Amino acid sequence: MIKYYSADYVLPVSTLPVKRGIVAVGVSGEIVNVYEDGSPEIDKKNIEKLDGILVPGFVNSHCHLELSHLHKKIPQDTGLIPFIENVIKNRHSNQQEIDDAIISADKEMYENGVVAVGDVCNTLATKPTKLASSIYYHSFIELICFDPEKAKDVFRAGGELLTDFDPLNSSLVPHAPYTVCKELFRYLNKFCGKSGELLSIHNQETEEENKLYRYKLGGFLEFYKNLNIDIEFFKPQARNSLQSCIPLMSKKAKILLVHNTYTSMKDVYFIRRTNRDISICFCPNANLYIENRMPKIEMFLFDDLNITLGTDSLASNQKLCILSELKTLHKNFPELALKDTIAWATLNGAKYLGIDEKFGSLEPGKKPGLNLITNVNGLSLTANSEVKKLI
Ligand SMILES: [Zn+2]
Repeated sequence: MIKYYSADYVLPVSTLPVKRGIVAVGVSGEIVNVYEDGSPEIDKKNIEKLDGILVPGFVNSHCHLELSHLHKKIPQDTGLIPFIENVIKNRHSNQQEIDDAIISADKEMYENGVVAVGDVCNTLATKPTKLASSIYYHSFIELICFDPEKAKDVFRAGGELLTDFDPLNSSLVPHAPYTVCKELFRYLNKFCGKSGELLSIHNQETEEENKLYRYKLGGFLEFYKNLNIDIEFFKPQARNSLQSCIPLMSKKAKILLVHNTYTSMKDVYFIRRTNRDISICFCPNANLYIENRMPKIEMFLFDDLNITLGTDSLASNQKLCILSELKTLHKNFPELALKDTIAWATLNGAKYLGIDEKFGSLEPGKKPGLNLITNVNGLSLTANSEVKKLI
């Protein structure tokens, strides 16, 4: 039997908002159609009338489920380098605690209306939860190695972990410009070169990353000294990390640049000029948690750039909730319109992950999930807006 839901607004994402629209959903969760108010095809008695905005299920394009046990354990506002040092110090814990936190984080995302996730992994810890979950996961198997001599071994170990993730969708990715040497980029390039893999990388989350690349100065020199890693081989590049690293990546890869908190106007021009498939992921709450700074989002607002949203991990966020990211975004950038940013939270993430045939918009035949956002003001969010998963 077809179920009908109506609300003050329906945001199908692929088409314009529908005031007092009605969404028809089939028995297995497939969208049958979106109707205008008063459509003659619909029997009014069967409509479930709701207050708020109906939107497709959310897509979280950047998370680290395996760090969920670090919830409330890492201090805020320290800046990125002390944050990383704290994660390194605290990430090892007993396996039961790690596993329980992963299970509960997956459940939390499900309840918050998330239907698909791009999730960064350094271990196999999340595999059982992902296999059992109703959420779609793509696992980014993350490689970290700044020492050229160790690059081959790190790449090989990453390849083994990638195989261990079978049959889940996964790809090998570099962690960040300050932790991946040219040699490791080269191995990844060869690997991605054939298939056009999804390649996600943390980008310019701290100004120290640019200082390292431009002048070989800043906090990462001390960071590597403390880890007893000699970075003598690294030469300053006289340009920002983004401009140095994008050319090292395969031309066929679908690149997701995550954070972009210290990306400059020049870097944005570079992105626009370079003939690469680049998407941009913002994680507003994590940026405030770690660096207490937001990316200059207005620089990225040009038509053809695919912008997505992520929560990052519970090590740097109070919750794994895309609505909460949208609320922070709109609070800091009141000129943004929800009818636009809702695409960042749904269809654009689905497009990046290559799953937009099923997810991301309320279009006939898709099974994108259905969320109700309550406590809204017309087509705007309020501080009290909440998400309720309907399907
Ligand atoms: Zn991250």
